[in-house]
Amino acid sequence: MVKSSSFHKEIEPVKKNKHPLTALSQKGPLLFLLDYDGTLTDFKKNPEHSQISASTRALLHRLQQKHKAIIVTGRYVDSLFKISGLKKFPVIGSHGFEARNLPKGLRFASLAQEKLYRKEAAILWKAVRHLHHRFPGIYIEKKPFSSTIHFRGIVFSKKQTTQLHQEFNAIYRRTITPRFWNLEQGKKMIEVLPKGFSKGKSVKALLKRFPHHQVIYAGDDVADISVFKVLGKKGLKIAIGNRVPRKYYDLKFKNPREFLTWLKVFETSQKKWLPCISNY
Ligand SMILES: [Mg+2]
Repeated sequence: MVKSSSFHKEIEPVKKNKHPLTALSQKGPLLFLLDYDGTLTDFKKNPEHSQISASTRALLHRLQQKHKAIIVTGRYVDSLFKISGLKKFPVIGSHGFEARNLPKGLRFASLAQEKLYRKEAAILWKAVRHLHHRFPGIYIEKKPFSSTIHFRGIVFSKKQTTQLHQEFNAIYRRTITPRFWNLEQGKKMIEVLPKGFSKGKSVKALLKRFPHHQVIYAGDDVADISVFKVLGKKGLKIAIGNRVPRKYYDLKFKNPREFLTWLKVFETSQKKWLPCISNY
């Protein structure tokens, strides 16, 4: 059973047959929208190591079959599939730019936009590669539609961190078209993302396909705030860790493990009576 300390003080602890999701499921079908890194798995120094366990994978597949579940991640979709093992799962990837296996072929970027961003992301990746000589330990992720430098677990002085940001910024301005992009700083990372796309914007479009569903969104980082804002007073907004300000969430868990335990308590309680709903 999940400890009551896992929840914000205003939220009642889980009691037998009184899980908050059970109450929500009585209002309508559930739609789980779940961030991946920091929500379903702990942060690792190298994002390629952020795998999930077989039991978490099984839990997500059961949620997807009985209700609806979609991963909403900053990762590009193929990387998410590879690291999670969630092949064929519905995913909103690259911070709202990519759509895969969503209902009725829903997509967010046009083919022309995909072509443009793929080209510029490749140019930027080539140009920033040498930074790992100047800043040993950083990880420069090769992505199709964006560019990310990770420095999780690396101890840089404030001066070094500032210098890394400045050098990345200079390369970015010199090599690609800044007006097409947003430069953002996440948790121990620098990211360049296609402008005009966000998790929140894509979730807003997605929710039109699920007008009667009760939405549960779980995320851990500032990039998830755009979704919390879109949901407003609707749905159940869940924060993992301490990066999401209190005003945006209804429930909070200390870490992915506590959140997954809570999800599992609900899913197990549903086993006996919920029918299996077919996919889209
Ligand atoms: Mg995250």
